[in-house]
Amino acid sequence: MGLLVVGSVAFDTIETPFGRVKDALGGSAMYISVAASYFTAPVRLVAVVGGDFPPEHMKFLEDRHIDLDGLQVLREGKTFRWGGRYHYDLNMRDSLYTELNVFEKFDPIIPSGFKNSAYVCLGNIDPILQRHVLERVNKPRLVIGDTMNYWIENKPKELSETMRFMDVLVVNESEARLLTNEPSLIKAAKRIIRLGPRIVIIKKGEHGVLLVTEETVFSAPAYPLEDINDPTGAGDAFAGGFAGWLAKTDDLSVENLKRAVIYGSTLASFCVCKFSVDGMRDLTHLQIQDRYRSFMELSRFDER
Ligand code: AMP
Repeated sequence: MGLLVVGSVAFDTIETPFGRVKDALGGSAMYISVAASYFTAPVRLVAVVGGDFPPEHMKFLEDRHIDLDGLQVLREGKTFRWGGRYHYDLNMRDSLYTELNVFEKFDPIIPSGFKNSAYVCLGNIDPILQRHVLERVNKPRLVIGDTMNYWIENKPKELSETMRFMDVLVVNESEARLLTNEPSLIKAAKRIIRLGPRIVIIKKGEHGVLLVTEETVFSAPAYPLEDINDPTGAGDAFAGGFAGWLAKTDDLSVENLKRAVIYGSTLASFCVCKFSVDGMRDLTHLQIQDRYRSFMELSRFDER
């Protein structure tokens, strides 16, 4: 069916109480693509990097069957860089710096072979760019979009305009409240549905995920891990697993959306165990399946 992924590719410098990495592979599109690549191939990546993006990262992506025809390499420029430091409470993070570099003038050019992608996953980028992507593809079967506080606060009109063309909006709980001015997450999700997306996914970090449609509320736990080393990209890994499963199965029934939520949560749980994308470098299908089954056990109980 083809899954198109658009977003940032970055060099991340990340500090957590459990370690530090410098200029490690990151970015929203990176986490989404790598997670999705465990379910569907090829994943079609549209992003931009500079001349400093090393061949070993290209090889890693190619080995994961990620199609790089849409990865613009601006030889004269530098790759986007982001630095973040996490507190002892890993839900708290400070952004240390953001160097947009080649990302500043990113124009998401969609190669002709990517235009018929049935599934599109828009990472957290300027809603105007997200809209450009949607104008440049043939009508997809499902558009999944992410956003963040910055766009909600600074480009609310553009975001509303873009959201009208999304089928699924993935946001965290504070973003859902900010977007709707509504403290109840269920009411917030229902309001978002009135803005365009018919499926809303609200990420609640270590407390799991809510999937809300007009008729359904599905609540999934996060996998209870003993050790989390780096939460960066967990939400993107979730979106990648979710989108990858839907692209593989091409089934948008509520039951399959629930499976997609659990596959997304599965990939997010592997992602946070290691720094950068290392937790998703060489998973086996058996590992993914085992964790998926553990999720089933997590909240299964009898009638009496
Ligand atoms: P998350 O943990 O879901 O917020 O995603 C973290 C990823 O987002 C990191 O790999 C960063 O490189 C990337 N990132 C940080 N700031 C931005 C930004 N302004 N635009 C696009 N991507 C960003």
